[in-house]
Amino acid sequence: MLPLHSIGRSARPGAREAITGTTAQDARQDHPCLRSCQPGERKRHLAFRASGTWRSAQWEGQRKRKAEHMHQAERNGYPGGRRFRDERLLAAKVTAVRAAVPGMTDVTLRGPAFARFACKPGAHLPVEVPGGAQGPVLRTYSVWRHTPADASLTLRIALHHPGGPGSAWAGAVTPGERVRTGVPRNRIVLDPRARHHVFVGEETGAVPLLTMLDALPPGAVSHGVLETTGPEAEFPAPDGERTLRWVHRGRASAAASPVLVAAVRRLELPPGPGVAYVAGEAATCRAVVRHFVTERGWPRFAVKTQTHWTPGKCGIL
Ligand SMILES: Cc1cc2nc3c(=O)[nH]c(=O)nc-3n(C[C@H](O)[C@H](O)[C@H](O)COP(=O)(O)OP(=O)(O)OC[C@H]3O[C@@H](n4cnc5c(N)ncnc54)[C@H](O)[C@@H]3O)c2cc1C
Repeated sequence: MLPLHSIGRSARPGAREAITGTTAQDARQDHPCLRSCQPGERKRHLAFRASGTWRSAQWEGQRKRKAEHMHQAERNGYPGGRRFRDERLLAAKVTAVRAAVPGMTDVTLRGPAFARFACKPGAHLPVEVPGGAQGPVLRTYSVWRHTPADASLTLRIALHHPGGPGSAWAGAVTPGERVRTGVPRNRIVLDPRARHHVFVGEETGAVPLLTMLDALPPGAVSHGVLETTGPEAEFPAPDGERTLRWVHRGRASAAASPVLVAAVRRLELPPGPGVAYVAGEAATCRAVVRHFVTERGWPRFAVKTQTHWTPGKCGIL
């Protein structure tokens, strides 16, 4: 039987013939999406044939993400899992602000709800920040450290220039100030079945990626590369021990960064696809995904991405 990743790839033009024949058909029949289908639906999915398996896999991914979001929200005490409704923002207080590395600051928040949160490594949450004339706006930040016993969590925020409302808030906030946040959610999560893990991102991506690296069980094989401005701006995972190799772009923009893509190209990885986690600026993420899929031949679904920002767009949630 064909491995499932070869089915995902079969939707790409020219690869159609790869899934013809009984073995591929068996694999399609065995696809997790089709197994959970009602008979009518199953027929419809199978009718897609080559492209159908790809669409089904996507559909299954969306269904799982939605279920996971609802589950997390329920666990955190938000039945129905509705998102960021005003009344659902949680009150917290800034308890500490500390320069982490040049260009990044740690903001620690404490709020009663943080004691109940179940945060998976790499989780993020929306934070309400002053938006000037337009009133408060939401900006998304990854959870760098979560201490339920203390009902606190720490965010590591990039101070970019010229800053938007999020960056301005992080640069000026002081302990004692009040803030409201949403509940944590996950977009990329560790895949425990991966043969090996690859982490790629710039400094904002490094925040969730290093917390995920920290959470890998002992013996898990990990690789990766992170990008920042210079050696002084590098930082290790929250436990302070594990880290990844860093490359430096100097004063150049992190948008569509050729430095990071070239470094990924140079990575020596074990044979066969593992799971890659790519986070940060959108165009760089796309270039890294293209590299894994077209140059290394990895199935698209083995490359998990989380885009954080892109020039000209404000407040990606
Ligand atoms: C799931 C998720 C997790 C995130 N986690 C983190 C995190 O842990 N730490 C963190 O610092 N950021 C994180 N971000 C990114 C952060 O939400 C954005 O950078 C946010 O837009 C910054 O808000 P702002 O108000 O400063 O700028 P905005 O008003 O949103 O953007 C204004 C302009 O500033 C530029 N810009 C935005 N961000 C950057 C940047 N980082 N570097 C250079 N230029 C930029 C762009 O040109 C943009 O058009 C995350 C985003 C997402 C979606």
